[in-house]
Amino acid sequence: VARLVSAPTSHAANHSVATVYTYLPGIPAEGYEWYFDHQKAAGLIPTNDGEVCVFVSTPPDRFRNELRRDVPAGFATVLAETAPDLAELVAASPVSPRFRAWEGMHGYLRMPYGPGWALVGDAGYFKDPITAHGITDAFRDAELLVAAIVAAAGGIPEVAAFGAYEEVRDRMSLPLFHATDEVASFRWHTGGLMDTLMQVSRAMSAEGEMLAGLHATALAA
Ligand SMILES: Cc1cc2nc3c(=O)[nH]c(=O)nc-3n(C[C@H](O)[C@H](O)[C@H](O)COP(=O)(O)OP(=O)(O)OC[C@H]3O[C@@H](n4cnc5c(N)ncnc54)[C@H](O)[C@@H]3O)c2cc1C
Repeated sequence: VARLVSAPTSHAANHSVATVYTYLPGIPAEGYEWYFDHQKAAGLIPTNDGEVCVFVSTPPDRFRNELRRDVPAGFATVLAETAPDLAELVAASPVSPRFRAWEGMHGYLRMPYGPGWALVGDAGYFKDPITAHGITDAFRDAELLVAAIVAAAGGIPEVAAFGAYEEVRDRMSLPLFHATDEVASFRWHTGGLMDTLMQVSRAMSAEGEMLAGLHATALAA
């Protein structure tokens, strides 16, 4: 839909990261674990059915020149470089991993409405998966859009109702969007990265608070 209606891009990211990931049982993880090193990252995300998503991330150039040619070997190499203990656990897994590879794509926010169309989820707002936060935002924007539709149906001018959707979405999104772009740049040094990760954490907390108070915000007005 975004392509068909030529939805304008209002904010564009400068960086993108390639990611290779797999799901494995039997990897101990009590929560998210992130590992960062020079020009690479890795991590664990516990998911359902006792499985854990294990991922590695690199700049797109390294993916194109190295990982894409032999994804299992590239994954093992980057994981060993970034998180050697985790690499040993994965290598010892009795399960043969199935890999998914993502070359990367620059993030964006698009104008999310126009005559006869509206965008939610990645269609309207995409950020690099290095901060693993797109699903929450897709649900959030679906809820914001529903509130706009209800407001318009209740007599609020469409431009005000849908404009409020875009304004609230952008206000909630931009701090994390920019912090994610900074993490995805791989241009940080360790101290700078810690500051950026604190920004990510603050942006996620602020978004959580805004979501909790959503029905009391401007959209309902
Ligand atoms: C490598 C990677 C890792 C990620 N990891 C995380 C993570 O750990 N945590 C997290 O929260 N987010 C993560 N994300 C982001 C998350 O996947 C997205 O933000 C989320 O899936 C967006 O949901 P969506 O419904 O907008 O889009 P999608 O999940 O992409 O769903 C859109 C659906 O529409 C279908 N479709 C497309 N065109 C048409 C059409 N014309 N007609 C009918 N159907 C159509 C598609 O096939 C697809 O099934 C990750 C993303 C990537 C790329």
